[in-house]
Amino acid sequence: MADIIQLLPDHVANQIAAGEVVQRPASVVKELLENAIDAGATSIKLIVKDAGKTLVQVIDNGKGMSATDARLSFERHATSKIRSAEDLFQLNTKGFRGEALASIAAIAHVELKTKQETDEVGTVIVIEGSTVTEQDIVVTPNGTSIAVKNLFFNIPARRNFLKSNTVELRHIFDEFHRVALAHPTISFALYNNGSETFNLPNSNLRQRIVNIFGNKTNEKLVPVEEETEILTISGFVGKPEFAKKTRGEQYFFVNDRFIKSAYLNHAISSAFEGLLKNGTHPSYFLNLYVNPQTIDINIHPTKTEIKFDDEHTLYALLRSAVKHSLGQFNIAPVLDFER
Ligand code: ADP
Ligand code: MG
Repeated sequence: MADIIQLLPDHVANQIAAGEVVQRPASVVKELLENAIDAGATSIKLIVKDAGKTLVQVIDNGKGMSATDARLSFERHATSKIRSAEDLFQLNTKGFRGEALASIAAIAHVELKTKQETDEVGTVIVIEGSTVTEQDIVVTPNGTSIAVKNLFFNIPARRNFLKSNTVELRHIFDEFHRVALAHPTISFALYNNGSETFNLPNSNLRQRIVNIFGNKTNEKLVPVEEETEILTISGFVGKPEFAKKTRGEQYFFVNDRFIKSAYLNHAISSAFEGLLKNGTHPSYFLNLYVNPQTIDINIHPTKTEIKFDDEHTLYALLRSAVKHSLGQFNIAPVLDFER
């Protein structure tokens, strides 16, 4: 009988992995911004053209890469962030899979320029569909610039599946906001088709929220602070009278990482119980800090869902902290007839 099993070539494996990591231009934005943060950047610029369909570029002033690392960064499972499985429970970086750059390079045209402070010159690498077409030395500032062009150029089905520019840009803004809100001390700028859409100087969370959502937001914010042995909470909830019909501004960050949690969202809603008009949703911007050993962020490739060891306690603490803040700010329940 003939043997029929073969190992897939790298570029095929990378394309398959890319399906998990890269759904749309906004996924590239997320991965590149996270890499810039992990590199210790204090200033990050995001440039997009045609809603990211022709260009997503991130320029950072982080630590850069050596020539060897620059080449290696596009290999699958190539990461500087973890060395063993145990490290997964001590994570203080956004990345750890070592899959993003390999995946992106498999389905786009990528140009990387990078330079470390200690080096005289930097490295440029051009890679298209997993094939390196150029590697050279280059004069470039300290830090890293990665330009991702023509996403899905070699997967027409995925490219055709992309939504209108309006929709794709909305997703890009969402990712940008999430990262910018999680890191108010880093300065960010976003250029869309050549014009500056956001310019966010380094500041604090309140100022960052106002810079993104407008001056009127300032008066709507109620601070939430709580510190216990297992959990530190800080951030803001929106006053009930500003609650919206749409679930707009709802942000949880766990150890500086944006996460989605219907369960924790429910904790907030229940803290607002009796304060909200029917069908409206509170806005919130909340940072939760927990011991990294008590969470597992490895359950989802894009890492927006995480698993907590002790969800019930977190729920109770969060609910009571928000209730307490709303009470302190003398927010009276809306009258019955209004509900
Ligand atoms: P991961 O972030 O999971 O490690 P990536 O594929 O996103 O995987 O990146 C691979 C490696 O390339 C990173 O571990 C890091 O060492 C390096 N790298 C990527 N982006 C940057 C950057 N902007 N600045 C410095 N190093 C980077
Ligand atoms: Mg990464």
